[in-house]
Amino acid sequence: MSCPWYSICPSRRFEREGRIDRSWKRGYCRTMDNWRNCQRYQLEEKGIPHPDNLLPDGKIDESIRE
Ligand code: SF4
Repeated sequence: MSCPWYSICPSRRFEREGRIDRSWKRGYCRTMDNWRNCQRYQLEEKGIPHPDNLLPDGKIDESIRE
């Protein structure tokens, strides 16, 4: 099962644009239950605003500006 936010997550667009590595998708978004460990997922679940360039491991990717 993939992350519940999979289809609407900004990560999909960044992948298509080649701005983030697809290893994030393999490691988190589509990996059985590991999406629960994603910082984006956890903040989303709590309704806490977070920037689009926040990566699943909690680091900010400054090279992504939007
Ligand atoms: S980056 Fe996080 S919130 Fe977005 S789809 Fe992947 S696991 Fe879900």
